[in-house]
Amino acid sequence: QAKAEGRNRFHYFNEGLQAVAIRRILVESELREAIQKKSFIPYYQPKIDAKTGLLYGAEALVRWGHPTQGMVGPAYFLDIAEQTGLIIDIDRIVIQKACAQHAQWLADHTFDYPIKMAMNISVRHFKDDSFLPMLTELLEKYEIQPSSIELEIVESELVQDTDTAIAVLDELAKMGIDVAIDDFGTGYSSLSYLKQFNVQVLKIDRSFLFDIPESEISSRLFKGMLNLSQSLELPNVVEGVETQAHVEKCLEYNAEILQGYYFAKPLTAQEFANYIPTKFNKGDT
Ligand code: C2E
Ligand code: MG
Ligand code: MG
Ligand code: MG
Repeated sequence: QAKAEGRNRFHYFNEGLQAVAIRRILVESELREAIQKKSFIPYYQPKIDAKTGLLYGAEALVRWGHPTQGMVGPAYFLDIAEQTGLIIDIDRIVIQKACAQHAQWLADHTFDYPIKMAMNISVRHFKDDSFLPMLTELLEKYEIQPSSIELEIVESELVQDTDTAIAVLDELAKMGIDVAIDDFGTGYSSLSYLKQFNVQVLKIDRSFLFDIPESEISSRLFKGMLNLSQSLELPNVVEGVETQAHVEKCLEYNAEILQGYYFAKPLTAQEFANYIPTKFNKGDT
């Protein structure tokens, strides 16, 4: 709960409970209208293969085309969307649009080779019987290979109901859809769940990188996280790569996939289609 509040940049410390409640009611009704109008738009942030420097894939990140406030990010509405359950409808809109875009790029040969499309979903879908059928339907409708998409689920959410998680993750694995544990290392939970969870990717939280190179302990923790993923033979993605120093640490410790402002912020579909990966020095660290 505290974490969800912390993400909300509109949460002022001097705001009374009443104001919080009023904002909640307002945003909830705005969200309901936005769902009707499908006013949620995926932006796409590039993921780069550290070995080749080539584009590996995209992560779809929701933006809301708000009637008065312009394009707003999840910090504005994600907590309320989660609390009200409206996140289910929002995710469906985002996933549908991202799959349509993915299929379009494949059909147009926008990229020289097929890229991977990652989508964030709330773990709430795991309790929803229509979730897996909806995914199957989407893949069929857009003729998308399950192996070309990936679902990102935040670690702290995933570990809340492990029985359900184990069952749904097994089903997703049977379908051939990869799942990444997002913000890995921030769930404050026992790592033993990794033995039971059928996941394919560890997405290492950006908090491990952000004070590198200043902090030696951060460097060691970061290296430990990458070693862990390598020992488990789970491919890793490093998020929050912002600087040359970050890139160098990633290469030194053999990180696999890199993502962050060093390469690009989340882009519109048009910008993403024209994106050429930022060059970085490989191998000379
Ligand atoms: P996330 O999935 O961990 O995504 C990374 C967030 O960090 C994104 O914020 C991204 O814009 C930002 N970011 C990327 N590179 C950098 C960097 O180098 N430095 C820094 N400081 N930040 C970077 P965004 O788009 O505001 O999304 C926030 C969170 O909201 C996401 O975290 C994800 O958990 C959630 N989210 C986003 N889109 C969706 C969605 O469609 N459905 C659901 N359920 N959750 C979503
Ligand atoms: Mg993510
Ligand atoms: Mg993340
Ligand atoms: Mg996050």
